[in-house]
Amino acid sequence: MLKVVLFLLAGFVIVAVAWLLAAVPGHVAASIGAYTIETSAPVAILLLIVLVAVILILVRIVRGVLAIPRTGAGWRRRHRLALGEARVTRVLVALAAGEQGPARKAARQARRLLGDTPQTLLLVAEAGRLSGREDEAEEAFRVLAKHPEARFLGLRGLLRQAVDRRDWPEALVIAKQAEAAHPGTTWLRQQRADLALQTGNWAEALELIGPDPRRPIFYVAAADAESDPTRALNFAKQAWKEDPAFSPAVLAYASRLRASGHEKRALSCVVEAWKQAPHPDLAAFALALEHNPLARAQAARRLVARNPNHPESHLLMARVALDAGLTGEARHQIEIAENEGTKQRRLCLLLAEIEEQERGDTEPGRIAQRDALRRAATAEPDPHWHCTNCGAEHALWHPKCEMCGSIGTVQWSSGVRTSGLPVVVG
Ligand SMILES: [Zn+2]
Repeated sequence: MLKVVLFLLAGFVIVAVAWLLAAVPGHVAASIGAYTIETSAPVAILLLIVLVAVILILVRIVRGVLAIPRTGAGWRRRHRLALGEARVTRVLVALAAGEQGPARKAARQARRLLGDTPQTLLLVAEAGRLSGREDEAEEAFRVLAKHPEARFLGLRGLLRQAVDRRDWPEALVIAKQAEAAHPGTTWLRQQRADLALQTGNWAEALELIGPDPRRPIFYVAAADAESDPTRALNFAKQAWKEDPAFSPAVLAYASRLRASGHEKRALSCVVEAWKQAPHPDLAAFALALEHNPLARAQAARRLVARNPNHPESHLLMARVALDAGLTGEARHQIEIAENEGTKQRRLCLLLAEIEEQERGDTEPGRIAQRDALRRAATAEPDPHWHCTNCGAEHALWHPKCEMCGSIGTVQWSSGVRTSGLPVVVG
């Protein structure tokens, strides 16, 4: 409707102007050499308008011709951009589909068409990683890390690569650069915590790591790694507070209490731990200062007093009774443990020792010993420290398995021993 109105208005204006021009009186004469042109004023005005219009059109044509090179470059740029964007889409699809070759090829084409933009660099790197070309990925991440606005992306990629190849010193350097480039990210915090764990920086790991069931383990490790006795005691205390039944935590705390003269408190912690989770290492600590066999037996009695029916308590009482020459009591304790279902190897070995002590080198004694040792060969395995990740056996508890590098996987249990597995001593 508006167009119709405008059209009518324009027609009206043109008719009005033509009518006004036609009404202009007079003549116009122009002489060029021997030629004289003479016409009426309206025609002259019309010719003038046509002349101006022709000049304007010519100017536009000349400008258009002059701009051809520039326009061509713009067209080529737009064309490259369109092609590049199409390649980017192709890379994304190939990455999503896990197509290594097409992803890598399209990423390289996108980079050639669009240049070193954060997007193309990231795609080249990810396509390189997907194809197992870590060198290509690293080159792209390094260029990306120089990009002011995408530095964190490049560093993140380099950090992932360093972690994958377990290059912890390099990973630590990159993590610090990433923290400076983009501070406070949760992902980076977790990465730094993992790095601190891998490099044995337990105190830093505890600061970075959030709620984690392995915290008591980290506290014990931090206490062992700490040279300052006060700080070490605090770490050990924290470990014990978080898990007062975890024997490495209890012993970390109790041994430092003992070293600082707080023997009563140390034994109290150990007795409490025995009540919750008896462990031979707790008994070794509680009896360590007693050298007289009878005194050791009394110390053992005090230790097991609040958990006397646990198989570990019977085994301990049998051991100290045997050491004190009380073979009858030792046998009695073993029989109780056996009746309660304990069929472990150490029980049979204790029995063999009892037979040896009671009957000596006699024929019935030798037969009884042989019988006990035969039973030991087929008995259930004794509990022991072993890595739940790689299966390696450890003579002592460690926060980190030295065989496979796993953290918090060394556990005490009577899992079936597999012959041929490595044993880590110490
Ligand atoms: Zn392991």
